[in-house]
Amino acid sequence: MPIRVLPETVAAQIAAGEVVERPASVVKELLENALDAGATTVSVEVREGGRRLIRVADDGCGIPAGEVALAFHRYSTSKLTSATDLEAVLTLGFRGEALASIASVAQVTLVTRVQGETAGSQLRVEGGQITSQESVGAPQGTMVGVENLFFNVPARRKFLRSVGTEKRHITALVTRYAMAYPAVRLRLTHDGRMAFRSPGTGKLKDALMEVYGLETVRQMLAVGEPESQEAAPSGALRVRGYTGAPGLSRANRSQITIFVNGRWVQDRGLTYAVIQAYHTLLMTGRYPVSVILLDLPPSEVDVNVHPTKAEIRLRDREAAFGAVQRAVRRALVDSAPLQTVAAVGAWTAGGGWTAAGADAPAGASTPGAGGEPGLHTALASLQHGPRFQPELELPGGTAGQRPAGALESPDSQGRLPILRIVGQIGAAYIVAEGPGELVLVDQHAAHERVLYEQYLDQREKGVPTQGLLQAMPVELSPDRAGLLEEHLPVLAELGFQVEHFGGATFVVRGLPALLGEINPSAALEAVTDDLEVGKQPLEGTIEERMIARVCKTAAVKAGQVLTLQEMSALVRELEACESPHTCPHGRPTMIRMPAVELAKQFERT
Ligand code: ADP
Ligand code: MG
Repeated sequence: MPIRVLPETVAAQIAAGEVVERPASVVKELLENALDAGATTVSVEVREGGRRLIRVADDGCGIPAGEVALAFHRYSTSKLTSATDLEAVLTLGFRGEALASIASVAQVTLVTRVQGETAGSQLRVEGGQITSQESVGAPQGTMVGVENLFFNVPARRKFLRSVGTEKRHITALVTRYAMAYPAVRLRLTHDGRMAFRSPGTGKLKDALMEVYGLETVRQMLAVGEPESQEAAPSGALRVRGYTGAPGLSRANRSQITIFVNGRWVQDRGLTYAVIQAYHTLLMTGRYPVSVILLDLPPSEVDVNVHPTKAEIRLRDREAAFGAVQRAVRRALVDSAPLQTVAAVGAWTAGGGWTAAGADAPAGASTPGAGGEPGLHTALASLQHGPRFQPELELPGGTAGQRPAGALESPDSQGRLPILRIVGQIGAAYIVAEGPGELVLVDQHAAHERVLYEQYLDQREKGVPTQGLLQAMPVELSPDRAGLLEEHLPVLAELGFQVEHFGGATFVVRGLPALLGEINPSAALEAVTDDLEVGKQPLEGTIEERMIARVCKTAAVKAGQVLTLQEMSALVRELEACESPHTCPHGRPTMIRMPAVELAKQFERT
């Protein structure tokens, strides 16, 4: 065959392959255009995971009537004029190929009006060809509707994943932009149902709250000045954001989100810098939840690496990695991690426990010298009562019966030392002795943690189900029923044998064995609780929330008297936990009273 220049439409289709990989790529490009246009409100409407329709409407600057058609030409942009501009890109877009690419593989309608023009314009483009252009009434801003993606590229259409998967990718994307642009109100609907909305208050924390929910955000620490409204000082490198306390972790690195100059980037190096900051604070195989915004002079970043603009090149990689790692590490070291908040007690003269609260000095929960024999015996006397003279006990006394190593100061971040059960008080708390400290364990919170970790563990291998002796019908409210029906496959993976019976009724045939004698209807209510919020949180977390919720329902309650064996089994299981210090919702599972503190209160020192 002779060499020929491909027709424009074919060239565009080939190029489109690089920009438009899947529906989420379309959402990304349209969202970036809206943000570049200075929008304060952007709504994203998706049908059938984006195959049928993706519509993004913004209240940004709009496109002048005379330029609308041009916007669909390949390499047409208002954001660059020369190649030197590439050295300091301040906008998310700059390649001028997104609209052209999208329009070459879908049916696109664009409606736009700039401020000052009386009428707006509407343009339709199908497979790269403009099919109509007319003047229409329109609000200021731009609306781009993309229908029947890949209608003319059957090969691509075949490769699209399930509607659910595409939906998740889109949700992950929109929620991430909500974090990078907290001042913009973003909303996302899937098939007419609100999936996500950000409040647009300008505060990163408010956006995080919508994405992750209160329980997670409560466990996150400020990195730098996350809410600073000022632009980064020119020429400098700034790191800010929020990062999870070590008790908050995930099984993969997908919840480490990094923005460089407002652009969400997937950069292995920067991601690794965040992970590095947690060195020894997280178990191997666990990864933090982090949202990190890195700002640096645009001339330091090459964004023109790949058509999707998700990859960047940094002029000084080392400096950027170092800055990210140090900032995250500082956040972890400076702020008392949540596990020690309220984990510090003071024995008041009146004889009650008072939680010292978040402003207690970090490390106060760690007894000075865990192995000080006098202090150990002081603790031992708690068990035997006052008839023992602590001073008369030999240094090796109680301490000597412990396995070596248990004497080390308990690590407030890591696993528990071995605890000795003393008893139960108020049918709610287990009294125990640890090396150099008195420990009170909240039996409910502790059991929640134990079930949660065992559940997560089982999920990887398959959750064993315990069949009910008799199938049990459970009726839910109609909206919950709809959500539950949609999520039945997820539930099946979580060990629930539930069938839709009709209407809002479901039949429960089996439940996860580890939940024990849980009431089937309570269990179903619990797992639908988080669905009801109407959120589709980031991939993976919805199951974790469902699990946390059902574990709470299944856990032993306060008010339940436990035998010594039961307490000891529970505490053993807690010791085996990866994050024993908090329940899955972030409440402390225990408070501690260091022996030094006891000695001080008894005026022994
Ligand atoms: P790029 O964003 O790289 O410039 P696009 O193909 O995405 O390329 O868009 C082409 C041009 O169309 C943009 O440069 C911009 O001028 C205009 N445009 C696209 N979307 C919008 C929008 N939502 N609001 C205002 N202008 C837009
Ligand atoms: Mg663009």
